[in-house]
Amino acid sequence: MHKLEQLNFENTFARLPDSFHSRLNHTPLPAPYLVSFNANAARLIDLDIEEFSRADFAEHFTGNRLLPGAEPLSMLYAGHQFGHFVPQLGDGRAILLGEIKNRAGELWDVQLKGAGITPYSRSADGRAVLRSSIREYLCSEAMHGLGIPTSRALCIVGSDEEVYREAIETAAVLTRLAPSHVRFGSFEVFFYRGQHEQIAALADYVIARHFPHLADDPEKAKDKYRLFLDEVTQRTAKLMAQWQAVGFSHGVMNTDNMSILGLTFDYGPFGFMESYDPGYICNHSDPRGRYAFDQQPQVGLWNLTCLAQALSPLIPIAAAHAVLDGYAPTYYQHHVKLMGAKLGLSSATQDDIQLIVSLLEMMHASQLDYTNLFRSMGNFNSAADATNDLLRDQFIDRAAFDAWAEAYRARLQREPGTDSERKTRMDAVNPKYILRNYLAQIAIEKAEKHRDFSEIDRLLNLLSKPFDEQPGMESYAASPPEWARQISVSCSS
Ligand code: AMP
Ligand code: MG
Repeated sequence: MHKLEQLNFENTFARLPDSFHSRLNHTPLPAPYLVSFNANAARLIDLDIEEFSRADFAEHFTGNRLLPGAEPLSMLYAGHQFGHFVPQLGDGRAILLGEIKNRAGELWDVQLKGAGITPYSRSADGRAVLRSSIREYLCSEAMHGLGIPTSRALCIVGSDEEVYREAIETAAVLTRLAPSHVRFGSFEVFFYRGQHEQIAALADYVIARHFPHLADDPEKAKDKYRLFLDEVTQRTAKLMAQWQAVGFSHGVMNTDNMSILGLTFDYGPFGFMESYDPGYICNHSDPRGRYAFDQQPQVGLWNLTCLAQALSPLIPIAAAHAVLDGYAPTYYQHHVKLMGAKLGLSSATQDDIQLIVSLLEMMHASQLDYTNLFRSMGNFNSAADATNDLLRDQFIDRAAFDAWAEAYRARLQREPGTDSERKTRMDAVNPKYILRNYLAQIAIEKAEKHRDFSEIDRLLNLLSKPFDEQPGMESYAASPPEWARQISVSCSS
């Protein structure tokens, strides 16, 4: 394991032409202090966790001091924001220090989010607040714990520097790790500018670094751009199926927040659905629900259409259309498989959709907690004379539940194994613990008011094993208390 000075930087993005990024002199953040660090993420870059206790650690992860080998830059991109194209965005408050190559040979981008003004900051301050940094830190690790592709979070560094949002808050820097921070919008910016050679250069870079299998023989290489669009399409479809299955709402699915690797990315006003409602809107800045929970799969496709347009100088239109036509089948196939698994069905098919849909409708009518109801479904007793009262009593319409339970029981006859084996399978896909807004809020308030960061660490640990019972932690699985109704999450971060 390495000391900070020994981290093995190998910066490939910085080697791309200057038109892809802007090199930086960063703005210092006064008197930074470590808020939380994540040992699991440290392993990804071979960082010795003893290093987190160094007095100068926080200086390095605000950018105040430069790690040897780092080449700080901000990435250029554009994006469709709430349906409207914005010709230039770029990292307005993020600095890519470079990529670190670990002993397994993987390259990890190390990015400081909230590290100050960049050439892309427009009129904003280049900062991130402690509140949103804690939310992203916890959620990216929660998603990883759930087995969902995501950027990772190494640490949060805080400062007493004031930042002005709806209220005065304090600044923080989140260090984010990802195999790549290239977005759909990274391609769109060059399409808009008519710089077609840059589109090809970026596609070649992404293929070489992340998808070498798409061009590893001369036949494939001729078709590599189409294969690349196909890879991104398939990954995005699978990611959407995973978000829907776990009840995750991203909140701001603009094309600049869509990872080219199909990672969950750029956490803002996200939310895990609690009381089941397909129209759930987690972002108070999205009153019309463009990014409501049930819109996400189709927004994924809409965003891919923007990417396909940006790649149109490289891929014939008909071929791009054919690739995009592959989105819906992949999405539905994965969604049915994942939802079926939540009911303990080892190989769910289209025939099981009605069973799944009816349960969701009953959950909606009874306003049941999505996560907790599925978790408790593991206790369903499939014996003919079982009444399943603990489940049944949660539904307002008991007769509807009884009819549904009869159909479920019949379906389970076709599953192998005992009830207890099924429970084991179900508990491995139905999490007990998710990052509920109120849990994050408690951690944020302790941090903001008392500089007490212990709750952040507790949640980080809890959410790294969301499928485990974790005796003693049961209260963290409770649906939200009354006061939590007032929590409002907006784009401001
Ligand atoms: P987001 O909504 O966080 O995905 O950000 C959208 C765009 O606004 C990106 O280009 C960000 O870099 C930029 N941005 C967001 N907040 C700030 C800020 N406080 N200072 C500078 N740029 C920002
Ligand atoms: Mg963003």
